Amino acid sequence: MMVIPMILLSNKQSICYMYRQKFTGCLLGSAIGDALGMQTEGMESTDIKVKYNMVFDYAPGRPGSYNEKLRPGQYTDDTEQTIILARSIIAAGKFDADEFSKRLLEHYEIITTRPELNRGWGTTSLTACKRLAEGKRWQDSGEDSPTCGSAMRVSPIGLLYPGRPEKTEDIARSSSLPTHKNPESIAGAVAVAAAVSMAVKNINPDTIIQTAADIAGKYDKKLADKIQSLEKVRHIPEINAFSILGTSIMANDVVPSALYCFARNPLDFPKTLITAINAGGDTDSIACIAGAISGAYLGVDAIPQKWLDGLENRKEIEYIALELWEIAKHNIQYDV
Ligand SMILES: [Mg+2]
Repeated sequence: MMVIPMILLSNKQSICYMYRQKFTGCLLGSAIGDALGMQTEGMESTDIKVKYNMVFDYAPGRPGSYNEKLRPGQYTDDTEQTIILARSIIAAGKFDADEFSKRLLEHYEIITTRPELNRGWGTTSLTACKRLAEGKRWQDSGEDSPTCGSAMRVSPIGLLYPGRPEKTEDIARSSSLPTHKNPESIAGAVAVAAAVSMAVKNINPDTIIQTAADIAGKYDKKLADKIQSLEKVRHIPEINAFSILGTSIMANDVVPSALYCFARNPLDFPKTLITAINAGGDTDSIACIAGAISGAYLGVDAIPQKWLDGLENRKEIEYIALELWEIAKHNIQYDV
């Protein structure tokens, strides 16, 4: 009988394997959250309950909504901007605001020329990109509106520094500025980048909440306080929790609600996303951020196969995640 030798991986090899699982889990988790949440985007949670009882899987965009042209498993602007940010990092080998802004502008020009390709880019991003198109520098293009657009796309920056949230803060802030210069938006972006950075390193949810609140507090105290409140609110049932946290498109609502979905179900990726997409309000962005954090924490194996199989553009997103790992692996501290 032939004996198949066991393949023994070195400690470093097994750590690299784990990170690759987590990087793909993060970006696929984020896109899956967006694609699942797009069907309920803009609905009240009570209307979701009446119409569907509960949403569990992909579905087409609702007729009459601006997602109506999207098929099951297709994602929205959240994932488009995440991919643009990730590709800019891969092209430059690091975050570069000029490179990122150039790519935002390229996409803006596509969707202004062909509006049928616009997957719900928000007013804040569109206004800022218009300024870029008019020749303004990225330092001057950002809109002063406290929406969540820079938080929803920031997960690639969290991945760059696993377990080192302090290293992500200034990069996340810079990544917000071309479109979102309001302190609340910046606070949301730095909080999510920090959370992804910690989740990918298996840091426990209580510490993730505390550290995300501390970093957000440098830019917006109200958002920091709401994240901090999750220590208690995470134990409150969904319907009451979301009425406390809010689910509007503002960073002050989306980021705490996304962190709630994760912190309430830290070991359950499907439940994290089902909680998010039934929350009402900005469900695609809440689920996008919750999916990024949960996917980074649990890895791609925690994601149901049917969601992976049904996601648009899965292979490209996997490829992007692994390319990000090739950059981030130089920032890993292997002795920890
Ligand atoms: Mg969207």
